[in-house]
Amino acid sequence: MASYPLRPEVLAFAPYTPGLSVEEIRQRFGLATVVKMASNENPLGVSPLARQAIHRAAPLVFRYAQAGNPRLVQAIARRHGLAPEHIVPGNGSDEIIDLLIRACPSPGRHCVVVSRSSFGLYSIFSRLCGVAVREVPRLPDFSFDWQGLRRAAEEGAALVFLTTPDNPSGHCPPAAEVAAFARSLPETCLLVIDEAYMDFADDQAAFSLLPRLAEFPRTVFLRTFSKSFGLAGLRLGYGILPLPLADALRRIHPPFSVNTLAEEAGIAALEDDGFLRETLATVREGRAFLARRMEELGCRVFPSQANFILFQPPPSQAARDLFAALLARGLIIRPLESGYGLPDFLRVSVGTPAENALFLALLQEILRP
Ligand SMILES: *Cc1c(COP(=O)(O)O)cnc(C)c1O
Repeated sequence: MASYPLRPEVLAFAPYTPGLSVEEIRQRFGLATVVKMASNENPLGVSPLARQAIHRAAPLVFRYAQAGNPRLVQAIARRHGLAPEHIVPGNGSDEIIDLLIRACPSPGRHCVVVSRSSFGLYSIFSRLCGVAVREVPRLPDFSFDWQGLRRAAEEGAALVFLTTPDNPSGHCPPAAEVAAFARSLPETCLLVIDEAYMDFADDQAAFSLLPRLAEFPRTVFLRTFSKSFGLAGLRLGYGILPLPLADALRRIHPPFSVNTLAEEAGIAALEDDGFLRETLATVREGRAFLARRMEELGCRVFPSQANFILFQPPPSQAARDLFAALLARGLIIRPLESGYGLPDFLRVSVGTPAENALFLALLQEILRP
């Protein structure tokens, strides 16, 4: 390694542990079918309108997409009732997180503040840029420690990341709490509210500050097509930013990172109200049903406004063993040891009614043999 030009930040990275694929598990255990409820993907798959749009656009992929994706940006802006200048689309919202971290903090001078056990990319991208990350512990119920976050922000933070609804806990603070927190932050820092799962919340008006964007000029919102719109594999997300910041991000944005198929599928998905409505109904009903039954089986279930549920198995059953037992029966959920540092917890994504029923049946078989 010594002879290659690699920055010390890069050498300090541990190898990525990828999730298990359906095919791997099928072969390892000799199973005919394997169900994945691990990555918070859309249980209904892809919107039919988005699929048609992908077919229609296939002959055009020899061309570059139009730089800046103006038609997509218009459609997103219309969805939120905002001027298109506020919207910056990206190759997944991951790309917007990356751009913000490269654009805002100066390494050595600023830090980035996150809650402990948050979505890993905030700290991965920060560390890669040589920007210090301050992790603030959560309260035992996984709610956010507002005072602790504010104090950490006062020590030179350029960015504070907040995930609402939170991944992996599903916790979602009321909009009034987030508003008070936003107002308490020093003028020198920016609050990034990652709303990847906000569509799944029971009542967005009660939880999202996005409709009040104009009141919060130091706040950025992140949204994605990967979850409620079912386009995880196409990579499409966006930031909603104050105008000077949106301008700055557009200047450093690689011009073609949102590809032609993602752009066309995104526009079509935004028009597919029926698919979104059905997705949200499936997730909200499945979430309530799973939570009730998992509690009846002795699990500790955390309230969720997202399309997944954080839980702990009964004390007699180690989380690791329950994960392995489900895996051997062909059901993949998400252990939270790697990435989130929560070895005693598991996360299950809400599936179709049939997938939810299968998960509950296997859970019962394992916990109450
Ligand atoms: C899934 C997820 C995203 C979405 O990432 P994409 O790059 O848009 O697929 C963003 N933030 C959180 C917390 C997530 O869980």
